[in-house]
Amino acid sequence: MKFNECMRCSTEFLFSRAVCPECGSEDIVTTDVKNGKAVEVVHLIATPAPFPDEYSVVLFQTPKGTRGFCRTTAPISKGQDIEITGDEYGPLCNPRN
Ligand SMILES: [Zn+2]
Repeated sequence: MKFNECMRCSTEFLFSRAVCPECGSEDIVTTDVKNGKAVEVVHLIATPAPFPDEYSVVLFQTPKGTRGFCRTTAPISKGQDIEITGDEYGPLCNPRN
């Protein structure tokens, strides 16, 4: 998953933009992996193809307060520290050690 951060004002945003939504700077860096915390976790047992039969959808929050959703087959509890990556289907997360 691509995270974007403005190098001028440190605003973090998920979706790629040509300019920072806060200050208009074009000095933006992208990172693939972010740490965050699980805010809510919902376990799914009826899922569409091509996803596993069971997985969880996690509402996460990064240390800067950016929120988004990721999915995981790992056991993750509300409040747990996680690492957010991604694949061709979207954001993935795993427990952080
Ligand atoms: Zn900015």
